[in-house]
Amino acid sequence: MPEMDGSRRGSYRCPVCGHRDLAELPEGETTGLIRCSHCDTRLRAELRSDDTGRFTVQVAEGPEG
Ligand SMILES: [Zn+2]
Repeated sequence: MPEMDGSRRGSYRCPVCGHRDLAELPEGETTGLIRCSHCDTRLRAELRSDDTGRFTVQVAEGPEG
């Protein structure tokens, strides 16, 4: 599998703890749920179309599961 831009990888900054890390969304998806690798908060990540490689994130609301 060639390492092209199939997956949507980008950086995010956790709004809760300020931790910065990389996350990846499934191919073809521009939004998805990720977890902060530091505080384990569920975050909703949205890939910015104008600035690829960076996610806009917000705390995911709603019950778990
Ligand atoms: Zn965090």
